[in-house]
Amino acid sequence: MTEHKHSHEHVHNHDVCIEQALETAEAVCTEQGQRLTKVRRRALELIWQSHRPLGAYQLLAKLAEEGFNSAPPTVYRALDFLISAGLIHKVESMNAYLGCAHADKAHKGYFLICDECQNVMEFDYQDIHKTLIAKAAEQGFELRSDTIELTGLCADCRATGSQPS
Ligand SMILES: [Zn+2]
Ligand SMILES: [Zn+2]
Ligand SMILES: [Zn+2]
Repeated sequence: MTEHKHSHEHVHNHDVCIEQALETAEAVCTEQGQRLTKVRRRALELIWQSHRPLGAYQLLAKLAEEGFNSAPPTVYRALDFLISAGLIHKVESMNAYLGCAHADKAHKGYFLICDECQNVMEFDYQDIHKTLIAKAAEQGFELRSDTIELTGLCADCRATGSQPS
């Protein structure tokens, strides 16, 4: 069992998250007629090491350590593939990549980012998104944004916030 390092973090069996993500990735690739090559798969696994988004340079360094062809174009191509397959999201404000737990369903990236532990959660945006489209339309504006990134304090950090870590 891989336990998250951050002391504030609620401990869950993260191996299950990783396992499910890889299973979904295989299924999604098969369905799209794509191949989950070694470097794509390993990049996905590394991004899934936690619920904290991973930067491209950290990913590059880890792949290099493991003897992969870690030339930036290779790594960026793998990231582009994982994004276009819907397996990861780019969290723009952190300039980092997050594994998606709902990769088998088309959706937009609405993110809750914890200021304290940097964990990112996706949240159910359907109603909010409809409201935003309607409000923008009132001003004759066609909304094209696909992602919203909100910062705050996650449940675990709130629960342990007053205690010394
Ligand atoms: Zn997990
Ligand atoms: Zn997602
Ligand atoms: Zn937190």
